[in-house]
Amino acid sequence: KTMQRVELQIEETFAPRPVAVRQALQKGTEFLSQMGVESARLDAELLLSKALGCTKERLYLNYEMALETAVKDLYCYLLQRRARREPLAYITGEREFWSLRFHVTPEVLVPRPETELLVEVTLELAKRLEKIHPIKILDLGTGSGAIAVSLAKELDDIEVWATDLSAPALEVAQSNALRHGVSEKIHFIEGDMFCPVRGQRGFFDMVVSNPPYVRQSELQNLAPEVRTWEPKLALVGGSDGLDFYRRIMAEADRYLTDRGIVALEIGADMGSDVCRLIANADRFSPASVYQDYAGRDRVVVARKLPADAIY
Ligand code: SAM
Ligand code: GLN
Repeated sequence: KTMQRVELQIEETFAPRPVAVRQALQKGTEFLSQMGVESARLDAELLLSKALGCTKERLYLNYEMALETAVKDLYCYLLQRRARREPLAYITGEREFWSLRFHVTPEVLVPRPETELLVEVTLELAKRLEKIHPIKILDLGTGSGAIAVSLAKELDDIEVWATDLSAPALEVAQSNALRHGVSEKIHFIEGDMFCPVRGQRGFFDMVVSNPPYVRQSELQNLAPEVRTWEPKLALVGGSDGLDFYRRIMAEADRYLTDRGIVALEIGADMGSDVCRLIANADRFSPASVYQDYAGRDRVVVARKLPADAIY
C-alpha cells in the first residue's frame, strides 16, 4: 500500500508542469531511494537516458532542458518498474561484462562482475596451454553467453561449446555472439550439463562453468532483484548449493584431455567444500582457489592428471 502511494506521488510530481532534466533526475533519485533501491542516482540517470534515447553524459549537457510529455511518461514508467525492484539490466536490456555490452532478458542471469575473474583465470591458463590448435573449451550453463563470448573475443585460436538447459537463454547467448562477431567460434547446444557433448570424450582442453550455486534455503535472503526476478534455474544449486559441482566433478575427467583443466566459479564460502569434491574425484591435481576483487574465494581450478600419473 505504501508502495502504491509513493508510486502515485511520482506521477503527480511529473504530470502537471514542465520538468527539466535536473529535476527529473533529482525526483527520480528520491523516488528510487524511498523504494529501497541502492544505486538510486545512477539508476535514475540510466533510466532517463533510456527514455531520451541518449547517453548518460548527454544528460548533463542538457541539464536545464524541459522534457517532452512522452519522455516524461516513459521515464515515469521505467522508474516504476525499477521501484518494483526489476533489475536495471532487464529494463534497459543491457549489461556490460568484460567491457563488452551484453543483451540480457529475464531468461538469463544478469552477468556479474565477479564472474570476470573466471574469464581472467581461464584466459591466463589457456594462454599457457602448450597446445595443439585450436583450444577447445566447454562452457556449461552459458546463460547470456558472458563467459563464452568474452573468451572467444580474447583468443584467436579457440573453439567453444556453450551449453544450457534453457532454450531461451541460448537464444540470448547466440545474439550476443552475433553482436560481438564470434558466432563462428561458438557452438550453442541445448541440454542437461554434459549431455550435449556426450560423444566428445577426452576432447576438451578446458571445462569452465559458473553453475547455479545458491542454497535453496538462502534464496529468500537475496536481494529482491535476484530473488523475484532472476531465473531460479540459473540460481539454485540444491539444498547445500553444491549439486552442480558434484555433477561436474563426477563427469569432467571423461570429457577433458589429459592435463585438461576445470575452472569453476564458486560461492564465497564454498572453497573448501569444492576442493574436497575435487580431491575425492581423484583424477585431478589438488585444486587452487582464486579470490575476487572483494577478497572472497570465487574461482576453483584443477588439472586432470594423465592416466600414467595415477597409481
Ligand atoms: N554463464 C552465465 C554467467 O556466468 O553469467 C550464466 C550462469 S547462471 C549462474 C547458470 C546457468 O546454468 C543458467 O543459464 C541456467 O539456465 C543453466 N543451467 C541450470 N541448470 C542446468 C543444467 N542442468 N544443465 C545445463 N545448464 C543448466
Ligand atoms: N552471484 C549470484 C548471487 O549470489 C549467484 C550466481 C550463481 O549461482 N552462480 O546473487
